[in-house]
Amino acid sequence: LEETLALLEEGHWRILAGATDFYPALGSGPVREDVLDINGLGALRGVSHTARHVVIGARTSWTDVIKAPLPAAFDALKLAAREVGSIQIQNTGTVAGNLCNASPAADGVPALMILDAEVELRSTRGTRYLGLDEFILGNRRTALGHGELMTAVRIPKASAAGRSGFVKLGARRYLVISIAMAAARLVVEDGIVTEARVAIGACSAVAKRMRSLEAALIGRAADSSLADPIEPACFAELSPIDDVRGPAAYRRQAARQITIRAVLQAAGTERTGTIAA
Ligand SMILES: Cc1cc2nc3c(=O)[nH]c(=O)nc-3n(C[C@H](O)[C@H](O)[C@H](O)COP(=O)(O)OP(=O)(O)OC[C@H]3O[C@@H](n4cnc5c(N)ncnc54)[C@H](O)[C@@H]3O)c2cc1C
Repeated sequence: LEETLALLEEGHWRILAGATDFYPALGSGPVREDVLDINGLGALRGVSHTARHVVIGARTSWTDVIKAPLPAAFDALKLAAREVGSIQIQNTGTVAGNLCNASPAADGVPALMILDAEVELRSTRGTRYLGLDEFILGNRRTALGHGELMTAVRIPKASAAGRSGFVKLGARRYLVISIAMAAARLVVEDGIVTEARVAIGACSAVAKRMRSLEAALIGRAADSSLADPIEPACFAELSPIDDVRGPAAYRRQAARQITIRAVLQAAGTERTGTIAA
């Protein structure tokens, strides 16, 4: 790792992890940059625990996440992992690569936002931690600086509470880029929601926490009536685009429906999986 950081500091490198975003983005063109392949950094692979965090190393694949024993709060992340491409893509693509690629349709982002995840960025100058809203700045834009490597994604154990749900809407059931996706995490005490996180992806340049909706869910009974405050007005702050996968108005409506399902999943009252449009 020290050698990697020294190389990153002194030159201009393109980092390569699972390469499942890297190669498609090249199209038919040649590789024009020096490529630093981090697959040999075994220490960065796997899910580990510290006193205060669950740590997902930067070389951890989606399959590694699916197989890791994790609390129910991570169910949304595991559901998202199962929806990333195909099993081959899940075996090689990494959680960190999904964040660094910063696609608006990255399935990992909403599922990590509801866990209050932070990214760990290391360079020869030191280590810094950024929340996802500070790290992902726009479509394919991140705060990764010169010489920095994302070494891990970490989740505070205080946020690993409750249960979570994830619903992805695609044009077909499998191997599909999201039209919209929603993740929700609820902490329920004595049948009442005491903590709520909701995030929606593919309906703005960067996936978005729905903070006013979260506030509206707190104090409510954790049953099907949780759908009541999830009104169309809650989705006004999204800025979906028209594209080949769907018009903006459809995306906004769909976001509401999948949010209701994700919230009810987190409350334990709804089935899981991708919905075909
Ligand atoms: C057929 C197919 C289907 C797909 N389906 C989905 C899908 O359904 N949902 C979805 O969200 N994505 C999907 N993807 C995209 C991709 O598989 C994921 O985003 C994956 O998680 C990317 O991880 P990777 O390790 O392959 O990243 P790479 O391709 O290796 O890297 C992606 C970018 O991140 C940078 N990078 C990677 N690791 C680091 C690091 N540690 N530090 C700094 N920079 C880094 C690279 O330089 C590059 O710019 C699909 C891709 C394919 C080819």
